[in-house]
Amino acid sequence: MIAGIIISALLYPIYGLNVLIILISNILIDADHYLWYVLKIKDKDLVKAFKFYKNRDIRPKYGRILHIFHTAELLILIIILNFYSRFFFFVLIGMVIHLILDVIYEFNNEYCRGLRFWSFLEYFITKIVIT
Ligand SMILES: [Zn+2]
Repeated sequence: MIAGIIISALLYPIYGLNVLIILISNILIDADHYLWYVLKIKDKDLVKAFKFYKNRDIRPKYGRILHIFHTAELLILIIILNFYSRFFFFVLIGMVIHLILDVIYEFNNEYCRGLRFWSFLEYFITKIVIT
């Protein structure tokens, strides 16, 4: 998150106050982590949810998770909307920055590597067709 804030701040000279859209989309994309936690763990405690995802022992026990805002399909939707609205251009920048940072984090932290579905299609094929 801190890297996302720094990158957003660095874009201020180019995009002005629109960096707020970039910053907010960069942060809100992770709301899906909390949504999954509330629905699956049946707990609304935000602090516990944060600790759940950072816990290197507990998180892997739940296997691969679909985080709906971190999917290729949503990215494609935002790319399409970006052609119709400047607002979604900035949302797209925030989302791309976030996803790149997530991929880098996952690459550097073995405990969470491969524990995410990056696509609805992959999720449905794996969960519904195969199982
Ligand atoms: Zn994320």
